[in-house]
Amino acid sequence: MHTIVCLKVVPKSEEVTIDDETKTLDRSKARSEINPPDMNAVEMALKLKERNGGTVSLLAMGPPLFEPYLRLGLAMGADQAFLMSDRAFGGADTLATSYVLAEGIKAIGSFDLVLCGDESSDGATGQVPPGIAEWLGLPQATDVRRVDVSDGSLSARRELGAGSEVVEADLPCVVSVKHDVNEPRFLDSGRWDWAMNEAPVQIWSATDLEIDVEKAGVPGSPTVVAGVSVAEGADRRREFLSGSPEEIATQLADKIRAWVKP
Ligand SMILES: Cc1cc2nc3c(=O)[nH]c(=O)nc-3n(C[C@H](O)[C@H](O)[C@H](O)COP(=O)(O)OP(=O)(O)OC[C@H]3O[C@@H](n4cnc5c(N)ncnc54)[C@H](O)[C@@H]3O)c2cc1C
Repeated sequence: MHTIVCLKVVPKSEEVTIDDETKTLDRSKARSEINPPDMNAVEMALKLKERNGGTVSLLAMGPPLFEPYLRLGLAMGADQAFLMSDRAFGGADTLATSYVLAEGIKAIGSFDLVLCGDESSDGATGQVPPGIAEWLGLPQATDVRRVDVSDGSLSARRELGAGSEVVEADLPCVVSVKHDVNEPRFLDSGRWDWAMNEAPVQIWSATDLEIDVEKAGVPGSPTVVAGVSVAEGADRRREFLSGSPEEIATQLADKIRAWVKP
């Protein structure tokens, strides 16, 4: 069984700024981390490997600084990692991002399952996994808490607002995994040297995979961020009561009475 996990490196949300001019995220001032639900997707892939055997591959699109984060996934237990990295991929919206990732998935080779997080902590659209499924022409399941695989098909429990449902699909398919569905394992110290120094992380440019640059990056992104602003807090009505604690309690009770029985 070959599972490919799409792993996004995100800036720590509390440290992100937005470029006023271009309306793009400025990562330069923020430290980064692996998108939290993607850690759950890696853990799910490793559990499936323990149950069914096989291989786990990691795939990211982003700048070269993403590479060490892929190595952390290798130290957790993944077997190989791939990074789609090219200036032509920059400024991508979810359509262009999912296109480039889908091309990377095809280049990795035959696979049974693509696992993603359900949404990123920075963009948070949740659109990339369904986008990948559409580009690849594969079935998809979103908001998944649990998967079981047998005889070439997948059963997935989806979390819905008021409960859950179980869906079934033929493999290969694309699944996005809810945050906190499992406890991502610690890095395996026995794999550390291999993961950090020896394991090859394949870096692919647009030319390497003959990617149509008109479908990638800015040219491939029909979404336009028209503006970014800070939401104004609503004005709250407030009133200070004064007097002894008994007098304040009486005033308060009168006010509450007036509200509930106008
Ligand atoms: C007009 C526009 C311009 C933008 N320009 C920039 C820019 O210049 N720089 C920038 O950093 N962002 C930019 N973005 C944000 C960019 O679109 C998103 O980072 C990207 O498309 C992923 O979308 P998302 O964060 O909503 O992912 P979601 O759909 O919420 O992510 C779900 C899952 O998909 C997978 N995934 C998503 N992205 C990746 C990835 N890159 N690699 C591997 N797996 C992934 C992960 O498993 C993730 O958990 C721009 C967005 C728009 C609309």
